[in-house]
Amino acid sequence: MSDLTANIAKANAYLARFKEGGVQNLIAGQSQPALAGASFENHSPVDEDFLCTVAQSGAEDIDAAARAAHDAFPAWRDMPAAKRKKILHKIADAIEARAEEIAFAECLDTGQPLRFMQKAALRGAENFRFFADRAPAARDGQSLPSPTLMNVTTRVPLGPVGVITPWNTPFMLSTWKIAPALAAGCTVVHKPAEFSPITARILAEIAHEAGLPEGVWNLVNGFGEEAGKALTEHKLIRAIAFVGESKTGSMIMRQGAESLKRVHFELGGKNPVIVFDDADLERALDAAIFMIYSLNGERCTSSSRLLLHRSIAGAFIDRLVARVNNIKVGHPLDPNTEIGPLIHKEHFDKVCSYFQIAQKDGATIAAGGKAPQGKGHYVQPTLFTNATPDMRIAQEEIFGPVLTTLTFESEEEALEVANGTDYGLTAYVWTQDITRAMRFTGALEAGMIWVNSENVRHLPTPFGGVKASGIGRDGGDWSFEFYMEQKHIGFALGAHKIPRLGA
Ligand code: NAD
Repeated sequence: MSDLTANIAKANAYLARFKEGGVQNLIAGQSQPALAGASFENHSPVDEDFLCTVAQSGAEDIDAAARAAHDAFPAWRDMPAAKRKKILHKIADAIEARAEEIAFAECLDTGQPLRFMQKAALRGAENFRFFADRAPAARDGQSLPSPTLMNVTTRVPLGPVGVITPWNTPFMLSTWKIAPALAAGCTVVHKPAEFSPITARILAEIAHEAGLPEGVWNLVNGFGEEAGKALTEHKLIRAIAFVGESKTGSMIMRQGAESLKRVHFELGGKNPVIVFDDADLERALDAAIFMIYSLNGERCTSSSRLLLHRSIAGAFIDRLVARVNNIKVGHPLDPNTEIGPLIHKEHFDKVCSYFQIAQKDGATIAAGGKAPQGKGHYVQPTLFTNATPDMRIAQEEIFGPVLTTLTFESEEEALEVANGTDYGLTAYVWTQDITRAMRFTGALEAGMIWVNSENVRHLPTPFGGVKASGIGRDGGDWSFEFYMEQKHIGFALGAHKIPRLGA
């Protein structure tokens, strides 16, 4: 039996219970269908085969979950942090123990290749351990004495929060948002993406089996415009941590305005990788390819615009074309696959539409540009050349294995092109000139920048974007800043003069 056949058999065994029983909500520790009885079907991007039914929740399910989170909050908030830390480590242990199941489910549900998903579960466990270890110090504050008062600060958890996640690497992203919320002492209502519900369910089950009290973490499935919208509008929900498209972020801000929601947005990107002529071109090539063609190009931090110094552009593009044509597209459970099928027909159509847009606008398709015949949402890894910065392929987030190359003559021009989009999530700079690197990174409009490196995530560092790419930061203590409220308390040191009115 080949590796692929064996992996498919294993994945089907893991998913059999969902095929049979569907993906239900988990509210106050109880598995339940949507209260109105509605459900929708979830199909695999690999072959469009039926995977499972999913609870199609509405405002009444969100209300039940928000109330459960509200009721569970005081006890979770007041639980000694050392005990919360222990539970979060137990969740991490269980994620590691079920890493294969999580990876296989994620591959079939999202189309992401196994070579990347194998690490997704372990990264999820790491997120829980990182924030678990920080839980005991989360409430620490400062002492800021004045002549008359001993002023102290402390942080308190916000209360029940809503977490809304997208379909790209859904398992990892869910842990990334939920672990710090729980460590801070908040309770959670999670609305995962409708296109990829399975691993969110496994994760919530793991949390309960690890001893998380009922109601602390509630899972409500459904569509964005129904369940998602209701969550952003619910009065008991104090904040929304959202990962998804920029235009959805705007909608959520409007929806949450009435109840004055605090929001944290991790949104889209059109991230530049800028290669100067003095760079280590071998490493720059590897990194540029990795950052756009890994994870099916469905990653917010992908380097979707390649800016090349004109003198090196021709030779660099020749090598790029050869490598792109050599990338292996295939079944996500094949260990050799580098690009799997895109998540959904809708998204597949969107990505493919850019092949025509590129040609219509006058760019060249130097590699790929087609969808192979047959079942599944497969597209060829694609490279656009002869593009100009104002073209749609250089401005819009395509969110697939599609790279647009641009050229520049001077550092000033490179900066103008790099900053010339609505987005500002990440940027990647390749140069051996340290002075130029410092000058250039200082002027780049991006929340995260790597010099002579691909994106290497280090959990204590801030993660987030500027402009249309987001509001707020995750990582390190920044996550707690979002999920907690600063509180100031002033203690009088003596009988200072109090202004007397009406005396
Ligand atoms: P999306 O915005 O369509 O959906 C994300 C989530 O929002 C889903 O759960 C969806 O159901 C929900 N939603 C949709 N409409 C809603 C509404 N009106 N109210 C409340 N919830 C609503 O995004 P997607 O297509 O699932 O994901 C891809 C996008 O996510 C890309 O733009 C990508 O760049 C972005 N992303 C950003 C980061 C980051 O860290 N900046 C990370 C991953 C993905």
